[in-house]
This record gives sequence, structure tokens and C-alpha cells, in this order.
Amino acid sequence: MKKFVYSFDEGNKEMKSLLGGKGANLAEMSKIGLPVPSGFTITTEACNKYYEDGKSIDPSIKEMIFSNLDKLEKTTNKKLGDLNNPLLVSVRSGAVISMPGMMDTVLNLGLNDEATEGLGNLTKNPRFAYDSYRRFIQMFGDVVLGISKYKFDNVLDKVKEANGIEDDTELSVENLKEIVNKYKDIVKKETKKGFPQDPKEQLMMAVTAVFESWNNARAIVYRNINEIPHHLGTAVNIQSMVFGNMGESSGTGVAFTRNPSTGEKELFGEFLINAQGEDVVAGIRTPKAISELKDIMPNIYTEFVEVTKILEKHYKDMQDIEFTIENDKLYLLQTRNGKRTAKAAVNIAVEMTNEGLIDKKAALMRLNPQQIDQLLHPTFKLDELEKARRISKGLPASPGAATGKVYFTSEEVVEASRRGEKVILVRIETSPEDIEGMVSAEGILTTRGGMTSHAAVVARGMGKCCVAGCGEIKVDEHNKVFRIDDIEVKEGDFISLDGNSGIVYEGIIETKSAELIGSFGKIMEWADEIRSLKIRTNADTPRDSEVAVNFGAEGIGLCRTEHMFFKENRILAVREMIVAKTKEEREKALNKLLPFQKEDFIGIFEAMESRPVTIRLLDPPLHEFLPHKDEDIKALADELNLDYNGLRETIEDLKEFNPMLGHRGCRLAITYPEIYQMQVRAIIYAAIHVIQEKDIKVEPEIMIPLICHEKELEIIKKLVNETANEIMREENVQLKYKVGTMIEIPRAALTADEIANHAEFFSFGTNDLTQMTFGFSRDDSGKFINEYREKEVFEKDPFARLDQSGVGKLVEMAIKLGRSTRKDIKLGICGEHGGDPDSIDFCHRIGLDYVSCSPFRVPIARLAAAQAVIKNRTDECR
Ligand code: PEP
Ligand code: MG
Repeated sequence: MKKFVYSFDEGNKEMKSLLGGKGANLAEMSKIGLPVPSGFTITTEACNKYYEDGKSIDPSIKEMIFSNLDKLEKTTNKKLGDLNNPLLVSVRSGAVISMPGMMDTVLNLGLNDEATEGLGNLTKNPRFAYDSYRRFIQMFGDVVLGISKYKFDNVLDKVKEANGIEDDTELSVENLKEIVNKYKDIVKKETKKGFPQDPKEQLMMAVTAVFESWNNARAIVYRNINEIPHHLGTAVNIQSMVFGNMGESSGTGVAFTRNPSTGEKELFGEFLINAQGEDVVAGIRTPKAISELKDIMPNIYTEFVEVTKILEKHYKDMQDIEFTIENDKLYLLQTRNGKRTAKAAVNIAVEMTNEGLIDKKAALMRLNPQQIDQLLHPTFKLDELEKARRISKGLPASPGAATGKVYFTSEEVVEASRRGEKVILVRIETSPEDIEGMVSAEGILTTRGGMTSHAAVVARGMGKCCVAGCGEIKVDEHNKVFRIDDIEVKEGDFISLDGNSGIVYEGIIETKSAELIGSFGKIMEWADEIRSLKIRTNADTPRDSEVAVNFGAEGIGLCRTEHMFFKENRILAVREMIVAKTKEEREKALNKLLPFQKEDFIGIFEAMESRPVTIRLLDPPLHEFLPHKDEDIKALADELNLDYNGLRETIEDLKEFNPMLGHRGCRLAITYPEIYQMQVRAIIYAAIHVIQEKDIKVEPEIMIPLICHEKELEIIKKLVNETANEIMREENVQLKYKVGTMIEIPRAALTADEIANHAEFFSFGTNDLTQMTFGFSRDDSGKFINEYREKEVFEKDPFARLDQSGVGKLVEMAIKLGRSTRKDIKLGICGEHGGDPDSIDFCHRIGLDYVSCSPFRVPIARLAAAQAVIKNRTDECR
């Protein structure tokens, strides 16, 4: 019989996929002798079986749960539901990959009317017993019975108000008894049954609720955002309760072994005396900084510091620890690798390497290349910041800079961002229901809650700027406005948040780009030592080229020349060229474009210094450059001195049913060779200019797009060579240049050996190659691809992550065929996949020379390329 339940002394930290992260770590902490309350874990397989069995718990699993419960009762010497010595347990979810706050938890399970009396007598603390009971009914009511939490909160607030009480800890036994009775009335009214009094029934209901919470709406959204597979299931941890709410010698808290915002090596966290865990996260009472525990409970503090050191050394990573103090005794309830900002991740990885805790390779593997993205985004410009009006200050909960329009609900944020607005979500406090709004917002501002509040934790995980606990702001959600003294900020007004300082500013503040310095620079240096793939960039302006070089680009892998055609001062000449009726007319227009193109290339060659630059000749269908609205066509006819009707007809004629499969790419040059001729002239003139004037070594790589047959390339290469030779003769110089092609049509991949006869390099255009291999339009697939993902046809959009088994197979085949003809052919990729870490791993494995990606992804690609070497366990070092 398969084992579906493990007690904590049977597991260890390697068993995450079966016991979930929490269960595996509780078992590990028990194993290394740390003070963990006893318990057991129901496996993720049991959760999956629950769903396979049509949402029912198999009797054999129920039996295993009860037999482990027996064992737990023996270990603790207590009994679930016992009148004299009741055992209380917590029932917590525990996914394989942590999903903080997304699933359900029930605390204090096992209490009923009699056991509460018993607990009060046993602890000589009836206040504590009734406080636990009211918490249990509310939590069980909300999580298991589906009764809105606010119904219970209303009762609590009314009793507090009636008795002039501010803080929950001031509630008397009588108050608590009254609350319990009213809570039970709510349950009866809502469920038509009394509150369940049988603890075993409570337990099975709670386990079912936790299984169910794996598929609640927010958990599904969270998994979609974080690309966590939906089939993993959650484990359930049943653990004997320890109580932080037993009085002044008890408490509870959370702490990180290093600062999760900055990575600084300091114990960072919060605690509350006389409270249970949910009080800390809920932001109802304001917690104290962990350093204050030193004064209040010096012995416990010393012990806790010791434990944090043991845990960090044991896990070799920054830990996020939950603890409870019950009557002056410390217990650990959870440890896990702490979520952190990208800045903290980089700093911690470098510092732990310097401390000798991990090595360089481990440091590189620790970092999530996607997360690094956060460090590459802008911060406020200092001069702009000085001019800005500061309106308030809260806690710097998650770093970054954000500017946007204020909205007060998650739904409004989502809608506004769909309209293309940049938005700041302003809430009193956030809850897991706000997850979609948080994803869509540029930044989050809350008026309540600390550094470990929901808003803070989730925003840090997302790399989103967040200012939390900004208490002086009064939010009036009803009237969609917030106020600070006499300042009023309405829905739709702009504010700016500085997540590094916690300062809130009025209006828009301009931002500046990031730099690769400090620990980040170190990580990049280590990545460069290890990686074998070269990293180039896709850039078509000198500005982008400079940004990319600053981020470490080693060349340009794709310069799309058509982007230059759209600029204000040249689009007219481009249009004149397109609508030309004769070769002469076309050449006349092209001659107007030549100086512009030459200037463009000079700028790029200078910005790239002597790094290689691949320039692709014109690719899109000509129709894309023409106006479509009547008034625009009229204006063009006037500007070009043409007859309006004639021009309209020409534009009509150029329309295609499938422009992506139409007259574009090299096909344009087969029909109008003078277009490519002009571009080649511009490239060669620019290269000669830069070599002669700036003493920069330039060897242009001229790339022909959309080749499907070797003959096309043969003809165009001849044209390129003749044009280049003519200039070199004219100028009396010798210039080295290469001619190569993109492989972006399946036929080109299949006949790559033939194409390589004429190509000195291949660059895989995996955007078009994906389009043509799948037969999915690049521009229209958005309409159905999400549904494909939801139905798990694809794990990921194939336009974002390379489809290794299909498109990837074509790429591999083309590499082999290409090399069989030309051993030293240079091979790269310039489709969007060149910046995707998973696809970069593939590119490394199949032996490409370089990947090319947008400037902001260059550092991500450098890291991913190093990780590819480490993951694939080769000893390639440059
Ligand atoms: C490609 O097709 O992958 C490519 C890089 O070219 P473009 O995206 O410009 O079609
Ligand atoms: Mg293409």
C-alpha cells in the first residue's frame, strides 16, 4: 500500500516534491534537533488522488491520517477533543514551490465547547482558551465553511466598540464568550447546522478544504504568473499547536536571516507579544522590529539568533523563519529559502560566496535570470526627484521607482492598465484577492501593514515597487480619493513611489536607466568567466547600441534596417520609392534615402566600436510603409504631386492576402534589386568612413532575410559583391565584409547544406521559423494561444520559448547541414528566443556561437548562458 502520510521524523529536505516545501523543511528541522512541534504531512500525491477520485479522500488515506494522529497524541501526551488535556493542531497547506498566502490554513483545530473549557482549566487561562476558540470558529468558518470573514469581523468590532476596547488583547473572558456565541450563531444561520463539535470531523473537513484551496482562483492566477505547473498538488501539514497568545511570556513572529530588500547581513523581521501568526501578517496590530525582542526576552533572542545561524549554514541560503514563543519557550514553525528582491538576491549570492558558504557556480545558479530584469529597470532621475513634491512617507517595502495614475481597487487597476495607462494601486491593505491588480500596477501603496504584510511580501516576489504602512494617508475608497492633511489625491491623479526610501511624491517623475555595478557587476564577471555562448544584441539605433554595450553586448546580431525607414524625415522618400512606376523613379527616391542610411550605419558602427555588426537588408512587405486612410493618402498624393485616384489604386494593388507570406524579405530584392543595392552602398560607405575617420575596425556582416532557396541567395550575394566591389574600386580601398542569411523558413533549414554554399553565416530567425513551422500567424496567434496554454496543449507560448522538439529540431538539422558544407560557418539566433533563458540553454546545447537579444535582456542572457554551462556540466570555460 502506497504511503500517503509521513510523520515529521520520517522525512527530510530532499522530499519536497512529495511533502511540499513546508513539510520537507519541518522534517529536516526536526532531524537536526531544532525545536519543532510534532506533526505529520499528508503528501501531494494524496492531494492529486483526491482530485483523481472525483474530490473524495480515499478511506485508506483517512486511515493513515488517523493512525498518524494516534501517534501524535502519544508523542504529545494529549488527545484531540479531550475534555481534560486537549490536543490542538494546525492544518496548513504546503506546495512544492512556495505560493505564499495563496492557499488555506486552519489553526486551533480540535476545539469545541467542552475542549475549550478543558483547555481553560488546564492552562488556568480561560481567556486564552476562549480567544483561541473564537479565532478557530472564524478561521474554520471562513476557510472550510465559506462564510465571509467580514461577518465575523463585524461582531468582533461591535463587541469592542460596545466595551470601549481598542486592542484585541484587552477583550475579557466574558467578551470572548459573547463573541464565540455570536460566531456560532453566524455558522448556524449560514450553514443551517451547528458548528461541528467532533474534532475528527473538523480535521477531515479542514484537510479537504486545503486540498480544495489548491484550485482556488488566486492560487491558479499565482501559478499562471509564476509558471508553476498545475498538476503538482499541495501537501497538508498537521502539527500540534503551540500558542503565542498565552500571555505576556508568549508571542509570535517572522524573521529573515538577511534583509530581503537589500541583502544586508542582519536579522530582519517582526514579532508580536501575546498573538498568533495571523496577527503579524494581517497588519491588524503593528508588530515590533525583531531587534526589540532582545530587550523584552533576552534569552529567547539569543537562542533565536543561534537557531537562525544554524539554519542558514545548514541550508546555505537566506532563510525566512516563522517562530512562536509559548510560555518562554521557543518553537520553530517553518523555514524556507526567503523570497527576496533581485537586488538582495545578487548581494546575498556574492556575499555568501565571499564568506565561503557557496562557490561561484552555486552563486550563479541561485539567481533567476528573469528576476535580474528588475535590476535593469530605471530609477528616478535625481534632478527630477529634487524638484518633486513629497507628500508622504511609508515603509520602503519593495524597491524600485514607479509613476502612475491612482486607482483604489484591483479591478479598476486591471481595466486602466488594459487601456494602456500606467497605474498605482492604492489600498488600505492588500489581500490575496488583489493579486491581479498588483500584477497590472506599476507600484503599490498601502496605508496599513509592515514589511512582512501581504503587500510587501508579494510585491517583493514580483519585483514591484511597493510603499507599505503609509499611515498618514487616509483612504476614502467610496469617494475614490485619499488625503494627507489638506492634500487631496483623486482617482486618475498621478503620483510617484520610491520603493527604496518609502517616499510618496505628487505627479510624474522621470526615470533613468540602471547600471551594472557592485555585486551585479561581480555576478556578470563570474558569468562571463564561465559562459561559452557569445551575447549579441538586436539594435537599430546608436542609442540602443550604446545601452546594449553598457550591458555587455559583444556585437549586434540583428540590425533591422526597416525601423530606420519609419523616421519622420525619410518616410516620404520611402513611400516615393514604393509607389514608383519605373526603375528610374525608384532609384531617384532611393538616392534620397542613401545619405540617411549611411548616417545611421556610421552611428551604429561608432557605438559598437570594433564589435561585429550584422545588418539585415529590408524585410517587411512594402505595403506596411504606406498610408491606408483616405485623408492620409490624399496628403501623400499632394506631397508627391501624384493623382489621388492613381495613388489609391497603386496602394490597393500592393495589398496582399497573406503579407507575411507575400512580397517581402529577399523577394523584394529579386524583383527590385536597386533597394538592396542602395542599402549595401550605405553600409560599405559607412564602414569605409568609420575605418578612415575614426580608426575603428569594421567588418560588416550583411544579412539577407527570408531565403528559402539557395538560388535566391546566389543571385543576391552576386548583387551585394558587385555593389561593394564597385565602391571599393571607386574609393580605392579594400574592405572585409561577410554575406550571410537568416534561416527562418522551414525549407531553408531543410536545405541548409545548399544554402551554406553561399552563406558565411546563418542567423536563426526563430520568430518567422516558429510562425511557419506551426502555421500560426505571429500577429494573430494571441487570440488563441492563451487557451492553448490553459488546456495544456503548450506549456508556454512557442513565440516566447523555443519549441525545442519541433522548431528546435529544424534548427539542429540546419546546423548539421550547414557545417557539413562550410565547417567554420558562424551560427547565431536573433529571434525573440535569444533572450529567453530556457531557449538560451537549448542554444548552448546545440552548439550555436551566439544569441542575440534586446539590449535590456543582455545581462539576463549572460547569466543564462553561464547557467547553461553549469547545468549541462561541461567544463567549457573561455
Ligand atoms: C525572426 O523572424 O526571427 C526575426 C528575427 O526577424 P523579424 O522578427 O524581424 O521577422
Ligand atoms: Mg523574420
